[in-house]
Amino acid sequence: MELIFCTHNENKVIEINKLLPDEFQLIGLSDFGFSDEIEETGSTLEENALIKVRTIYNGYKKNCFADDSGLEVDALKGKPGVYSARYAGNQKNANDNISKLLEELKEIDDRKARFRTVIALILDGKEYLFEGIAKGEISRSPIGKNGFGYDPIFIPENQKLSFAQLTLLEKNKISHRSLAFQKLLEFLKANKSI
Ligand code: IMP
Repeated sequence: MELIFCTHNENKVIEINKLLPDEFQLIGLSDFGFSDEIEETGSTLEENALIKVRTIYNGYKKNCFADDSGLEVDALKGKPGVYSARYAGNQKNANDNISKLLEELKEIDDRKARFRTVIALILDGKEYLFEGIAKGEISRSPIGKNGFGYDPIFIPENQKLSFAQLTLLEKNKISHRSLAFQKLLEFLKANKSI
């Protein structure tokens, strides 16, 4: 079965393709010949993931899925959330985003936060949502060189090291994205005859 992964990030496509059984052929947006940027105008991760799959399904009637992730900080009522990538502005700079967040939390002791990934899937016209959550805390300052985005200030629950101090393999065992994709894969394997 052919499945479109609604992303222009070829690395993501390769990574997820490796996890799928051979019956599935995963195709990224660029290989599919869709070069437009789908505007993420939703106010939740769910809305943004659905905007992406609905754009592709409505245009091409192809089975497809899309993911959207963000960091949700309790003391900031879930911010930056859906705005995680551009929290400090449209330059989408990770260091700027981290500085802004740490400044906002300067006087705040409640550091609880979670990374959340939502995956939307459209299979034969039916919509499904899958969620993965990694709970943790925001550190007082950045530490570690691995990963991307907010990794240097996120300490996962029951750990002393930040996401940026873990190897990719270690992070993938507990990350929000891996957990959400695991749910998607289990669903696809169980429903491959659909
Ligand atoms: P995306 O939906 O996967 O593109 O994630 C949106 C934004 O959320 C990223 O640009 C990062 O700022 C943040 N983010 C999502 N996942 C992670 C992660 O695993 N580590 C650090 N930041 C993340």
